[in-house]
Amino acid sequence: MRRKFAAGNWKMNGLSADLAELERMVAAKPSAAVDTAVCGPATLVHRMAQMGWPVGGQDCHPAENGAHTGDISAEMLADAGASYVITGHSERRADHGETDAVVRAKTEAAWRAGLTAILCIGETEAQYRAGDTLDVLHRQMAGSMPEGCTGDTIVLAYEPVWAIGTGLTPTADEIGAVHNALRDALIDRFGPETGVAIRILYGGSVKASNAAEIFGIADVDGALVGGASLKADDFLPIVDALDAAD
Ligand code: PEP
Repeated sequence: MRRKFAAGNWKMNGLSADLAELERMVAAKPSAAVDTAVCGPATLVHRMAQMGWPVGGQDCHPAENGAHTGDISAEMLADAGASYVITGHSERRADHGETDAVVRAKTEAAWRAGLTAILCIGETEAQYRAGDTLDVLHRQMAGSMPEGCTGDTIVLAYEPVWAIGTGLTPTADEIGAVHNALRDALIDRFGPETGVAIRILYGGSVKASNAAEIFGIADVDGALVGGASLKADDFLPIVDALDAAD
């Protein structure tokens, strides 16, 4: 069965002093029944990885090395101790013009380095209002998920762009309908065994106060958490809510 997964995304936040928050998370020893990770800024990944909490990067270049000033390869993240890397986050798609083809190449780079990719898809507010959510998600999945996905090498994160950092979330019914459709699409493309093995996270304004409701929705295997992953007091109750969910 799929293991529950709570992943934090610190985005462009975190200085040395903030490692104290990760230290508090480690000290709290959350349930071993839930997989956890924090995707930190590249500058902290190595130190985070030495603290005993699974760590991810937030992006990687498709190439292993080369003349790409300012970029970081998946191999570098793995070398620093990361186990995961986020690919296709909507902020990368918007701020850096990342296409589905680029996201696919980055996901393959993650695998080359032995990392599990946390691949993000999600519709904009305009697409949501136009009723295009599922069309958009199917297009993003087709374009950005490589062939050969497995339950160990990829985690799919459904993150409505309009819910990220806004305090807004879709209704439980809407999240349930989307996750159900994503599950069907995974089974269609990768077959029944792999299709049910790939975890689907929800992301977008998850916090302690809404976590239990969201984790009670069928086919929600956990969450990708931005703002509420920065502080142990905010993130640990989310991990506990995931542990308690049926
Ligand atoms: C995210 O950055 O992936 C995210 C879901 O952010 P937030 O939880 O702050 O909405």
